[in-house]
Amino acid sequence: MTSARPDLLIIGAGISGMTTAVRLAEDARGFRVRVVAERRPESSTSAAAGAIWDPIYANHPEVPAWSMYTYGVLRDLERAGRPGVRLVDGVEASRREIATPGWATSLPGFRECTAADLPDGFRSGWCYRAPIVDMPSYLAYLERRLIAAGTTIETARFDSLDEAFEQADVVVNCSGIGARELVPDPLVEPIRGQLVAVRNPGVTEFFAEHTDELEEMTYLLPQGDVLLLGGSADKDVDDLVPDPEVARGIVERCAGVVPAVAGATVLGHRVGIRPQREQIRVERVEAGGGRVVVHNYGHSGAGVSLSWGCAETVAGLLAGDL
Ligand SMILES: Cc1cc2nc3c(=O)[nH]c(=O)nc-3n(C[C@H](O)[C@H](O)[C@H](O)COP(=O)(O)OP(=O)(O)OC[C@H]3O[C@@H](n4cnc5c(N)ncnc54)[C@H](O)[C@@H]3O)c2cc1C
Repeated sequence: MTSARPDLLIIGAGISGMTTAVRLAEDARGFRVRVVAERRPESSTSAAAGAIWDPIYANHPEVPAWSMYTYGVLRDLERAGRPGVRLVDGVEASRREIATPGWATSLPGFRECTAADLPDGFRSGWCYRAPIVDMPSYLAYLERRLIAAGTTIETARFDSLDEAFEQADVVVNCSGIGARELVPDPLVEPIRGQLVAVRNPGVTEFFAEHTDELEEMTYLLPQGDVLLLGGSADKDVDDLVPDPEVARGIVERCAGVVPAVAGATVLGHRVGIRPQREQIRVERVEAGGGRVVVHNYGHSGAGVSLSWGCAETVAGLLAGDL
């Protein structure tokens, strides 16, 4: 670890920690930022995500603002040709007759689905253009930005926030499911998710099932030569070993939407643990003795979709300290 006492220490190198770190390390005020994480970005839950921009599957009054802000940043990154981000047209659909949510109607490419747009078993839906992020290459891109701003990722585990305060007075806690033990916060619960990566049989548009909460849903996310198939949502399970039965179910359900998927070559499996919380925690807490922690965790199934918006709020919550 570096010896200089940083202005602030960020715990976690998933999407929340990396985005917040880039936002703060590139700040014109020139903060000395350190990132310390038990797992590097490529082995975090974030690396396993699909990852489509979609503001559902996480709860907080700021979700609409955070998600729209993030949409804008991802769109700009795509326009600038940065790695890992695509804008893809597609369909989000429900197996029930539901009204189109307000957030969808202002998005690029929006229109209500016609019956011809909907696969068998789906009753309603809407089309729009969404950012889809290739997480391994996008996290590597964020790390390059961090290094350019003078920050590297150090690998270590903290058993408590007090341990982190030994190294900095200002701590930003982006520990995902790790917050359950680190804070400790029993409101954070694991929801295991699994995806199957197959060789893309020619799918160019995404399909995402819309459900009221995280549960077994069907989605197909094209990423060039790779097509990611989802998904699963197993509450209170934190096992990272891919389950072949779950994988079989995912391929079968996705083949119900795009039959060519049934014969596609399987390239790999991804598993991650979503940090479910009844409400996302983005909050500043005074810890005494001039020490401050800003929490940024509990993003459940939407951490990528909210990442830049949450990072902006964290920066605002720290404005007076740095
Ligand atoms: C299969 C799957 C599909 C998904 N699809 C999508 C999608 O399409 N769109 C979307 O927006 N979201 C999606 N998600 C959700 C998204 O992945 C999560 O919301 C997001 O990854 C959470 O990011 P995070 O940075 O908060 O946590 P993580 O990625 O878990 O990172 C936490 C970091 O904190 C570190 N840490 C934890 N505890 C400690 C400690 N005590 N000491 C030091 N370091 C610690 C970890 O090592 C890690 O570096 C999906 C998730 C899964 C599993």
